[in-house]
Amino acid sequence: MAVNSPRGTSDIFGQDIFYRDFVIDRVRELFKIFNFEEIITPAFEYTEVFSRSIGEATDIVKKEMYTFCDRKGRSLTLRPEGTAAVVRAVIEKKMLDSKSLPLRLFYIGNMFRYERPQKGRMREFWQVGVEALGRKDPLIDAEIIWLLNEIFTRIGFRNLVLNINSMGCGKCREKYTEKLKEYLGEVFNSLCTDCQRRFAENPLRIFDCKIDNCRKIAAKGPKISDFLCGECSDHFMEVRSALTGLSIRYTIADDLVRGFDYYTGTIFEINSKDLESAQNALGGGGRYDNLLSEFGGPDMPAIGFALGLDRTVMLMKELGMQYIPAEKRLKIYILPAAGLDKPYFINILKVLRDAGMTCDIDYGMNSIGAGIKRASKKGFDLALIIGEDEIEKGTVAVKELKSYRQYDLGCKDVVEKIMEITGVK
Ligand code: AMP
Repeated sequence: MAVNSPRGTSDIFGQDIFYRDFVIDRVRELFKIFNFEEIITPAFEYTEVFSRSIGEATDIVKKEMYTFCDRKGRSLTLRPEGTAAVVRAVIEKKMLDSKSLPLRLFYIGNMFRYERPQKGRMREFWQVGVEALGRKDPLIDAEIIWLLNEIFTRIGFRNLVLNINSMGCGKCREKYTEKLKEYLGEVFNSLCTDCQRRFAENPLRIFDCKIDNCRKIAAKGPKISDFLCGECSDHFMEVRSALTGLSIRYTIADDLVRGFDYYTGTIFEINSKDLESAQNALGGGGRYDNLLSEFGGPDMPAIGFALGLDRTVMLMKELGMQYIPAEKRLKIYILPAAGLDKPYFINILKVLRDAGMTCDIDYGMNSIGAGIKRASKKGFDLALIIGEDEIEKGTVAVKELKSYRQYDLGCKDVVEKIMEITGVK
């Protein structure tokens, strides 16, 4: 029987859960402030949901999807990203109401890509993403970039670089791709075999090659910014001035081309200077103005981003950052002496839990000393000791585990008394 988890997956437990909850609490708070609502889509979809939208020539579709046939022979794929599934759901469930656009949605979910596992790169990983669907105002682009930037700032990261670029519309890209192909044709032999294939299928994908040299060659070629039509160029200028108005610092990265075919117009990525360059992207996204109509939905524009939850936690830990518990909740450990009347302490457990205090019982019940040690180790604030004496008097002995001060409290108003002693509700 296999006893290891599959390569590229992780078990998340202990401290990592606290870090992760800290990040999730921050993003949920911001989604409320920015007025985004949650959507949960299935972990797998019909394969064409991803293959058609992400692009047949991308690495994700070519090499990285977990695709399988179900028992009826239908081809299904574990989601490699969130956008295509959200777009599918929005159209299928007719969520776009022309009177209240853009529709603002967010998701938190696990994604699956058959990549070569390494630090910060997993085969199953978690993403938090948002989509704003139905409008093309450049201010929405700025809002979305602001939100991504704000998430990492609120978590407490400092050494961040926000790169932005515009991929232009179909018209701009046609001219650009032609010139790019001319240039790449001259350096064809220096490209890796994968990029030689990309050259024929979609030369833009050379920018996502995992081999540095290919990306460097592509970056030396013509720039998309020189091929933007008037409309795309004006839109991008407005996004930039809105970002400046919001005091958000950005860098124009004209070699930024993100790894999915569906992007049009504004694209962006936030990197950390504290991570190695191969895994330094914390999150990114862009406009995808044609995807809704390509899925058979209304001809409406949209924009979104996704950030890596695991990578965010990894960076917090690498920087020695502490998570701050969302709220201070008292943690109480009940230590009943062996052989005691169970209803007595179960009743106290219920009273404390009803009051919202985190409460657990020491089922070891061997010695009070050992129980107190266990309570301290597990991060409890108070130990609540119940012996025969206490039952007789109708009290509990409460020990503060930091100061070791001890109090005898009556059972009747135990909650109020504990709050009085600790000052925590
Ligand atoms: P993408 O959907 O490729 O734009 O990725 C968005 C974010 O998800 C990245 O910036 C990473 O933080 C994270 N991410 C992407 N792929 C992986 C992976 N294989 N393992 C861990 N995190 C990932």
